[in-house]
Parts: sequence; structure tokens; C-alpha cells
Amino acid sequence: MYPRLALFIAGQEIDAGLPTRPVINPATGETVGDLPLAQAGDIERAAAAAAAAFGPWKSQTSLVRARVLQAISASIRNKQRDLAAILTTDQGKPLAEAEIEVGNAADAFEWMAEEGKRVYGRIIPSRLPGSDFAVLREPVGPVAAFAPWNFPVALSCRKIATSLAAGCPIVIKPDEETPGALVAIARLIHELDVPPGLVNLIFGDPEQVSSQLIADPRIRKISFTGSTSVGRRLAGLAAQQLKKITLELGGHAPVIVTNDVDVDRVVELSVAAKFRNAGQICMSPSRFIVDNSIKAEFVDKFAAAAAKLIVGNGADAQTRMGPLANTRRVAAVEALVEDAIAKGARHVTPHPQSGALPGPLFYPPVVLDDVPDTARMMHEEPFGPIAPIVGFDTLDEAIARANATEFGLSAYAFTNSMTAMRRIRDEVQAGTVSINSFAAAMAEGPFGGVKNSGIGSEMGTEGLADHFTSKAFLLLDH
Ligand code: NAD
Repeated sequence: MYPRLALFIAGQEIDAGLPTRPVINPATGETVGDLPLAQAGDIERAAAAAAAAFGPWKSQTSLVRARVLQAISASIRNKQRDLAAILTTDQGKPLAEAEIEVGNAADAFEWMAEEGKRVYGRIIPSRLPGSDFAVLREPVGPVAAFAPWNFPVALSCRKIATSLAAGCPIVIKPDEETPGALVAIARLIHELDVPPGLVNLIFGDPEQVSSQLIADPRIRKISFTGSTSVGRRLAGLAAQQLKKITLELGGHAPVIVTNDVDVDRVVELSVAAKFRNAGQICMSPSRFIVDNSIKAEFVDKFAAAAAKLIVGNGADAQTRMGPLANTRRVAAVEALVEDAIAKGARHVTPHPQSGALPGPLFYPPVVLDDVPDTARMMHEEPFGPIAPIVGFDTLDEAIARANATEFGLSAYAFTNSMTAMRRIRDEVQAGTVSINSFAAAMAEGPFGGVKNSGIGSEMGTEGLADHFTSKAFLLLDH
């Protein structure tokens, strides 16, 4: 059942008297809900509620905060299937993927519940006799966070969990196209009797909400996941206010495959990773750079496995890839594929227009061989079910290709050569490098990018640390 949509401000559900926008199921085109949109007064009340909740929440012991986070985690896990069904309804991803995403959200609360107990200060040997000199870590203050439509549950929950573990209330604005599961989670959180104002959930006009919250002096930290262009804009607004900001932006992950691997196994893992969430993932493998001596075999096997994926409504058990999330993605992906083919790429899978698709937001898996460096998809984040494959002769060439974009989020390699592993680890410019695996974003590790992929990290000790300020404290006996 798709939930009744509402905002949550200062512990109150607000769903009446506001303008609304329809929420669409991308698989069927059906309207599944009407989303209330916060107006200036609501945004102001959300910031005020977070500010009012800050003092009492910061003063709680970390053990009390941990119990709240554990309760939220348990509550999400209890409803994992229901939440996954809601997520599939407005986002489109297959149910199995939605369940994993909801599980990741519960993991974020569980891990941060524990890590919040381990925020240590420091004692510095003082140069002044009879004195103590220490570094205290203090929660930065109320957080304003913005999460996108591709992983609305996991990305929003990482931000909520980290803020709460640090002692900071939050105003979170997930994407307006995929609000259902977040509304359901906010309802679960409020049923747990958390202090009012600790978690404020709003939707609205993104530009209005972000500019108003970033300018609000009570908000002390900004966190955004989304496109590089919006990230730049928010960084500019935060800079004017001298506020901390964490940005997790786009990626264009290279996958280097050397000629000493088990090609069947690498293809199996690559196809699963590439077409997860229809490729709409910032860490999605998006450029396969394969040793020329195995490239033909790799391309044939990759294309054969991709062509077998069942594309359909994520709610159907046999579906392996759902629709794209919105019409913007369909147009963008189509343009990238046409551009690459016009510039000489060889289209290995059947042409996108050739088969019957279940609806206007569906796009089939596309595998392209010998994609020229001039093709837009080699530089722009593809964010869709496109797998460009290119060859290399030397590791120097592979690493140079891997680094040849403005992005630096995730990078992958499959190899059995220790020399290649070390060189790729040290020379590929990325926030995460995974060798012989596509795993990269886990609650216990930092996730973030270099170059135009962002600033700072989410999750892990590093993500939590970004929610504190340091206070040097000197105490002199007299
Ligand atoms: P977009 O740039 O319009 O929006 C990206 C996200 O930012 C959306 O969730 C949107 O609601 C939000 N947003 C937009 N303007 C905002 C503002 N002024 N203040 C606060 N939030 C704002 O693009 P889109 O069409 O939704 O997505 C296109 C591109 O965005 C993709 O191709 C991809 O490169 C990138 N993207 C990246 C991620 C990621 O996980 N890093 C997620 C979603 C989208």
C-alpha cells in the first residue's frame, strides 16, 4: 500500500492546506499519491524545530542516542518488505534491489548507533605548568540535507543516521519524485516517540528549500547528494554563509580488466553491477577498459548476458531491470547512445528501438564496443543502462583512460596481478577503489569523491567526523 504523503515538522504530520504535486509510478504511469509541498513558512518552522531540538539532543548521553538509533533501525528492518514495495512503486527498481536498499538504510542506523559512542576528544600535553589542555568535539548543529531519487531510502537514511548519532537534529528534503518510503520511515520514527523536531521531513521546490535553509543562521551544516551542477550551486550558497558542506556528486567509474582473469566470472559480476537500478547509480561501473587480448570474448559474453536481462515492472518477481526513473533520464540516455553510435561506436546489443518495451520510461540494456574518446558518454555521467567498452594494450594506457574524466568517485579493477593491483590503487584518482569486487559503499567505510565528484565523505568514522567542530579547552589552576 502506497502511504498517505505528508511533511513531518516539529513532530507533526502536515498534509492539509498545501499545494501538491502528483507522484507517478514510472513502470505504469499511474499517479500513486499527491505530495504536499512546503511553503516558506513550513521551511522556517522546520529550521526552528531542528534548532529547538538541538540543545536537548546534544545534552543526551551517547548511550541514549544510540538506543534511539537502534530502535529506528529495528523498526525499519521490521517493515523491510513493505518499505521495499513502496520504494519500487515510485522509484521503479526491482523489489529485490529495493529490499537491499531498505536493509542498507537499517544498517546505517545500526552502525551509527555504535559509532556515536566512540567520538573521542584528545588530551594535549600542555606547555603551561598546572594546566590541562584538551580538544573537545562538539556537534556542529542542525543539519539541512538533500537526497536524490536514485536511492531515496538509503541516501536519506545515511544522512539522518549520521546527524542523529552526532547529536544534530536534521531537516531532510528527499527528492519529490520518490517520497513514499521516506514518508513511511518518518512515520515509523515518529511512532517511536523521538523528540519533536529531531527529524523534520519536507518536500517542496528544491531551489526554494535549499536556498532558504542554507541562508538560515540556525542551520550549521549542509549535506547534498546529486548532480555536480546542483552541488556547485549549493557549495556557493554554503560558502557565502561559511557553513560546512558535504557533497556526494556524480561519478563515471572505470573498470579495468586485465587478461589474467576468469572472463565468465568478471562478466557475470559486471552485468549485475552495471544494470542495477538501471545504471542510475553514482558508483555504477560506466566505462569498461579491457585488455585487447580478451576484449572480443568479454564483449560477446557481456552482450549475451545483458540481452537476457528481463526488463519490466519492478514489482514483478522475474524483473531484473526496471524503468528509468523519469522522462529526463530516457531523453538523456537516448541522446548519449545516439551520439556514440554517430561517432563510430559499435552497437552490440539489439538496437534500443527494435524490441517492444513495457512503457515509455523503459530503456533496454545497451552494450557498445570501441566507443571513441570523443563520444559524450565517455565524459558525461551516463546514469543509465549503458555499458561502453574500450580496449587497452598497456597498464599505463588503462590507468590514463581511467583518469580521463572530471569525475573521481568509484573505480574498479579485475586482475590477478599484484603489480596491477598496487598501481591501480595508487594511481587511479577516485574516492573508492575496489579490486575484484563491485562493493564500495558500506556503512563502516567512508564514501565520497575527488575531483568533481564531491567534497567530504558519508558514513564511516570520516562521515561522522564531518558533523563536529573542535573546541580547544585550556584549564589553568590558580
Ligand atoms: P538535477 O541536477 O536536476 O537534480 C539532482 C538532484 O538534486 C535531484 O534530487 C533534485 O531534486 C535535486 N536538486 C535540484 N536542484 C536543487 C536545488 N537547487 N537544491 C537542492 N536540491 C536540488 O538532475 P536530475 O535530472 O534529477 O538527475 C540528473 C543527474 O544528476 C544524473 O545524470 C546524475 O549525474 C546526477 N545524480 C547523481 C546522483 C548521485 O547519487 N550522485 C543522484 C541523482 C542524480
